[in-house]
Amino acid sequence: MSQLEGKTAIVTGASRGIGRAIAIELARAGAKVALVYQNNEAKAQAVAEEIAALPGTAIIVKANVGVSAEARAMVKRVADEFGRLDILVNNAGITRDTSIKKMTDEQWEEVIQTNLNGYFYCMSAAIPFMTEQKSGRIINISSMNGQVAAFGQANYSASKGGIIALTKTAALELARSGITVNTVSPGFTDTDMFSEVPEKIQEQIKGRIPLGRFGKPEEIAKAVVFLAADADYITGQQINVNGGAFM
Ligand code: NDP
Repeated sequence: MSQLEGKTAIVTGASRGIGRAIAIELARAGAKVALVYQNNEAKAQAVAEEIAALPGTAIIVKANVGVSAEARAMVKRVADEFGRLDILVNNAGITRDTSIKKMTDEQWEEVIQTNLNGYFYCMSAAIPFMTEQKSGRIINISSMNGQVAAFGQANYSASKGGIIALTKTAALELARSGITVNTVSPGFTDTDMFSEVPEKIQEQIKGRIPLGRFGKPEEIAKAVVFLAADADYITGQQINVNGGAFM
């Protein structure tokens, strides 16, 4: 039997990049997966078809996780449709990079709304279902840049550092309900988000990574599947998957 047979999962931001890889790996491990996307329905549908071909089970759900009502309705819809909710992977994230001197309120708020408030809305909506089941696995995707200074990313770094703090408090509060909460923090990973970084800067960054290359989305996904399937006694922790870029 596959490790996650009978389990159900929500992965936000599953139409592309790291979320896509996480959804596929969870499905490969046997979980039924809800793929949450914001705009790219065709890409989300393509991921669902890839999962169906494994074979596996996936549904696609459109929601802006930065809008409380949409995030909460999405979680309820998935729990109702699957009949239970075992795993929540908060992964959807955005960047609006610029120096603090130039950063507008809108750029600050948009990032915090999606990357931090969105994680809270989804967690908050998932907790009642998991509490009733007396079990749950919440995995929050943060970033290396939630732990180190990153020029031009004050909004992003604040959101990602906030996720690490949120994870620890949630882990403490939810442990008695059988729910574990952990963070996976990717380093520079080959996705659309990272492709926005100018090529010259990418080369400089690569030169500073001890393992000498960028991460693959699948390598982040493996850490998530480990936490979902094999980590019963791990909570409030953070796994850095970054090729040694930050130790
Ligand atoms: P991508 O830009 O490749 O994909 C972002 C995903 O998030 C898409 O599926 C997008 O949906 C979805 N999304 C964005 N905003 C919302 C929203 N408001 N509501 C619902 N879904 C939304 O990102 P990555 O795969 O690179 O990043 C995934 C996570 O990993 C993020 O949290 C990021 O901060 C983190 N990370 C990434 C690193 C990297 O180097 N790539 C490094 C460290 C952390 P749609 O397709 O519909 O637009």
